[in-house]
Formats: sequence, structure tokens, C-alpha cells
Amino acid sequence: MSGGFRIGKIFGINIRIDWSWFFIFVLVTWNLAIVFGQLHLDWGILLRWGLALVGSLLFFGSVLAHELAHSLYARSKGVPIRSITLFLFGGVSNIQREPEAPGQEFVMAIIGPATSLLIGIIFLLIGGAIGTPDVGAVPNPGFLLPALGPISTILLVIGSINIVIGIFNLIPGFPLDGGRVLRSILWRITGDVRRATRWATWVGQVIAWLFIIGGIAMAFGVRLPILGTGLIAGLWLAFIGWFLYSAATQSYQQVVIQDVLEGVPVSRMMRTDPPTVTPDISVDSLVYEHVMQTDDYAFPVIEEDHLAGIVTLQDVRGIPREEWSDKTVNEIMTPLPELVTVTPDQQAAEALERLTTRDVRQLPVVDDGHMVGLVRRQDIIKWLQLHSDSDIEKQE
Ligand SMILES: [Zn+2]
Repeated sequence: MSGGFRIGKIFGINIRIDWSWFFIFVLVTWNLAIVFGQLHLDWGILLRWGLALVGSLLFFGSVLAHELAHSLYARSKGVPIRSITLFLFGGVSNIQREPEAPGQEFVMAIIGPATSLLIGIIFLLIGGAIGTPDVGAVPNPGFLLPALGPISTILLVIGSINIVIGIFNLIPGFPLDGGRVLRSILWRITGDVRRATRWATWVGQVIAWLFIIGGIAMAFGVRLPILGTGLIAGLWLAFIGWFLYSAATQSYQQVVIQDVLEGVPVSRMMRTDPPTVTPDISVDSLVYEHVMQTDDYAFPVIEEDHLAGIVTLQDVRGIPREEWSDKTVNEIMTPLPELVTVTPDQQAAEALERLTTRDVRQLPVVDDGHMVGLVRRQDIIKWLQLHSDSDIEKQE
């Protein structure tokens, strides 16, 4: 989820929309229009699509409320929240770190589905209360829904969807909310967050596989209880299963990484004597006297004891050979104001996060304007490989 844009801020939390969201928004609106059309043959096309649009917005508003519940609780416990993103499979809160205790995780996880269920119940109650038709005038109970007005129809449909979302999220496969609830319980019992995560992830992967197998079976005409049958519904279920599987695997890796890097400062894994250059040398001498003489790809540029920027192989590649002798490092480097840096006592996990989000290979470690070292992605990965019992994929 790299694409997308910010639509605003609620309670100080940035709300973002991923491009894939537009696809699901159209799909949900379309589906609601079909459902409304089947329920109310008497509704005109404008009313049907207008209400489908309102229903769709109400639906995504509910998804947002679910995520806000997670985020606001996390923030109240001092965990920073970067943003909430709406995307193809609903919403995701960008919570900056894992909870510190099982009790905290339990509440943080269960508050989302609880919000969905609460919204669902409120919508159903209001929709039912204002929409109760004159039962005597309806031929049989199956015709109750068609006899309802527009507002109660929307509330009853979106209310039911919220109940389904609440229940779906309580499925105990990590990283679904229910999986986090399961993890918090295992964590409390075993006192070992890594083992609890491994078990909850394993359950999550089994459930993901059941989704994939069930989805394929549905696509081939098998009728499953509640879910029904059909090619599109089956493929969709299999697709959700595949998403859950990769999310489970990825979250597990993240937890292992965080756990291994826990409490480790940048200073423990930085290189304290990286080769450096001065800004006044030519690109020519940078290449022949530094790049070709070492194994390094990036060189901090030091001017009068202060970090002035960083110059990398990529910067050199953009310059034609014949200009190498005329251009200086100063002209091609990334200057300090544009650089992402870390301090020696910052957490290594934070450094790794910056390396990943900014897609760079190394970060200068700066203390009071002075460069004290360089932390490279490969050094952090080496550390992870040394200290974890499971395999961590090379993040390069
Ligand atoms: Zn949730």
C-alpha cells in the first residue's frame, strides 16, 4: 500500500485512502444498488443509486469508526499512531509499535470488532424502530424488508454488514483482531510474546488456507453454509485467504524483528569509522580513490568536522563520464537538509523503519551535528540473522 493520498484528519490522526479503495467503493455501491433494487422494485434508478451511495459512505464510515477505536485506544496508552488507511480489504491502523502487555493488546484488539458490533446493533435497532411497517398489511414476514422505507432499509442493511464485519474480525487468526485476542491470551498464559505470536500466526495461516480451499470449492460450484456458492464469491474468498496468509507471515516477521531489536540502540550496530570524503574533491577522484578502493557504495561527505551530505554510487551514475573531472562531490551529493539521519541512542528498530520507508541503504548517525557513524541496512539484517531463531528474509 504505497499509493494513495490523505483525505483529512480525525482526532489528530491522518486518514488516508489507498488507490485500491476506489475499486472496493464502486463494488460496494454497485452491490448495494442491486440489493436495493431486489428489495424495492418500486424504487426508481436515481433513488436506488443515490441510496446505494449513501449506504456505501455509511459502510466506509463504519469501517473508519472500527479503525479509530483501535487507534484512539492505542494512543491513549502512549503508542503513536501515524495514520489510518482505507484500502481494498477495509481499513488498517498504522500503529507504530506492538503493545507492551497482553492486557493492553487484548483491549486494543477487541475494541475494533466491539465497535462494529455496537454500530451494527444501534443501526438495526433504529432501522427496526423507525421502519416497522404495518404488519397486518404485509402478506407474509418475508415481505417485511420490501415494505420498509429508504432510511430504515439502509440502516438495516449496513447494520447487518457491521455485525458480519465484527464477527469476521473475531476469527482467531493473527493478524485479524481475533488473532490478536488469541495472541494476548496465549501471551498471558505463556509469558512469551514470541511463542504466542508463532501459535496465533499458525492458526491464522490454517484459517487462511481454509479460506483459499473453501473459495476454490465455491468457485467450482460447492455450496458452503452461510457463504453460499458461485465463481465470483469463491474467488473473492480465496483472494481474502491469500491476503490473510501473507499478512500473517509478514506480521510474524515484524514481531520477530521488533522483538530482536528491542532496546538495542543504533550505536550498537553502527560502523564508527566509515570511509568519508570531502565536498571539494572531483567526481573523478571520488570514483578512483574511494569507490574503487573500498567495498562501500555510500560515502558521508565531511566538511570541517561536520556532516555536509552523503554521496552514493547512484549519484555518480547520473553524471556522464566526460564531466567527472569538472564536477565536485559537492554538486552531486544529497545535502544534509535532505538527509534522513538518526542519533546514536535512537532505537535500531526505528532506524530500520526509516531505511525501509525512505528506501535507502544507509543512514548517517549524527550527534550534535557531528557524524559519529553510519548504520547500514545490511548491518541490521546481519544482527537480525545472528539473534533470531527463525529465518528472516533479506530485506533488500
Ligand atoms: Zn480491527
